[in-house]
Amino acid sequence: MSAETNRREFLQRTAAVAAAVGVGGAPAVAAEAEKCATHAHKGQAMLKLSCQEGIVPADKLEEKLDLLEKWGFEGIEFGGKNLVTRVDEIKKAMEGRPIKVSAICAGFEGWLIARDPQIRKKCVESMKQILTAAGALGSVGMIMVPSFNRQDEQGSLPPKDARVLLAPYTRWTDRTPGPQLLLQELGEHAAKAGTTIILEPLNREECYFLRLLADAASICRDANHPGVAMMGDFWHMTWEETSDMGAFLSGGKYLKHVHIASRRRRKMPGEDGEADNYVDGFKGLKMIGYQGYVSFECGCEGDRKERIPAAVKLIKEQWEKA
Ligand code: MG
Repeated sequence: MSAETNRREFLQRTAAVAAAVGVGGAPAVAAEAEKCATHAHKGQAMLKLSCQEGIVPADKLEEKLDLLEKWGFEGIEFGGKNLVTRVDEIKKAMEGRPIKVSAICAGFEGWLIARDPQIRKKCVESMKQILTAAGALGSVGMIMVPSFNRQDEQGSLPPKDARVLLAPYTRWTDRTPGPQLLLQELGEHAAKAGTTIILEPLNREECYFLRLLADAASICRDANHPGVAMMGDFWHMTWEETSDMGAFLSGGKYLKHVHIASRRRRKMPGEDGEADNYVDGFKGLKMIGYQGYVSFECGCEGDRKERIPAAVKLIKEQWEKA
């Protein structure tokens, strides 16, 4: 079956899902989701929780891992800064444990779509170092933002030129990579290291260049490389997306990671009360058969030793409801 036929079928089934939501509710959605799943990710969706290292209330890494395992987490996300020097420490602490490294969050130098080619070069080189470390730790990928708004003010390429530099529009034309396609180069390095580079859309206050999951997925489509992926962050999605479900559907097979936080103030899920509803998004994740991590990236108002397990309970309940 050709890729185009697969895509057509996926779209038809997505339309069927939309119809099912209208007439049959959650059971019909789940049934359609199962059929759709093979078109994005192989197998059935599952909830795997992860947490960024800095959120866990303990000093030593071993203690953090103990707490996360006790609370039901299956992954831990590390920052990319200084990761290269921590590979041995992290490997040793995680040896023989069920918990795995979910993702590596940024930590590179410069920015990828800088107008200055020296800044771009420095960025690519530091990303490659972190990607090598991420691969050695078995991480799904390294998260990156092409440029923050403050970096645009310092000098980024115009958006159209930046887009071409990352991955040009190649849908109906030749997909042969050119000499300067940054995501091809980084994706190739990532894939060889056994990991991926993950584009993260942010809200407009932080990164105007990349705000929507569909746009990140479109860049992945054009990069057309197994080492190039994207993610969604419920916090940023709250600002930008018209539908959590629609956003995750548009991510499809390119969606490799998810961040979660409370939806009004980016605190612990549950700390913003009724606003902290993730059911619609979880329905989307189920439809695409998502098997990646949902990782905590948030602050916390209360006692973390109470609020983190409470957030786990809330998320598990909403996943079941979806
Ligand atoms: Mg995030």
